[in-house]
Amino acid sequence: MLTPPQEDLPNSDRDWNEQHWKNLLEMLIENGLVSYKEVASHVLGGLNPPQVGTSLTTANFQRVYGKGKTMRKMFEWFYAQDGVCRNCGTRLDLQADHVNPRIKLKEEADTLDNIQLLCRRCNVVRRESHKQGGLTFLTTQSALMWILFVKQPKTYKEYHDLCREYGLTMANIRFQEGWAMAEWLHKQGIYNIEDERNAH
Ligand SMILES: [Zn+2]
Repeated sequence: MLTPPQEDLPNSDRDWNEQHWKNLLEMLIENGLVSYKEVASHVLGGLNPPQVGTSLTTANFQRVYGKGKTMRKMFEWFYAQDGVCRNCGTRLDLQADHVNPRIKLKEEADTLDNIQLLCRRCNVVRRESHKQGGLTFLTTQSALMWILFVKQPKTYKEYHDLCREYGLTMANIRFQEGWAMAEWLHKQGIYNIEDERNAH
């Protein structure tokens, strides 16, 4: 069986300190969900700077900087950045994105002055909050697994309610997909699912 949820954990991931996250990571590794090698490999991939060589040298940029000079200009700009998300400061999963969106400025948006490095999470949050006005601490996919492994709900219904309580606003289908992890681990005999008549 999976290591049971810790008793004294802060209810909200916003209140977790580094030790809490370390415990969760070790729990996932000790239970054989992932290996140190997989975690390290995943993190290294996330540290690799974004692929600006193509995305920031398109015809629109060439129009501003000149066909033969765009790549050099772009790398000058790129190396002058500090390599962290402008919003949250992480080095992980950086993406180059417009400061003023293309929706507003059209082709005019494609100048290096109007480009910033944001992490994937902040980028997603920016778009989602635009639509829904709500912010969650983790990205949806991370939150779905955080809820599953930290709260370890015993029925789909319980999982669904925890997801809603967390602030996830998307369609139930995402919760049903996330619940597959519980079903898979249950089949392996390491996750406890209780019989539930009226959940599905
Ligand atoms: Zn960020």
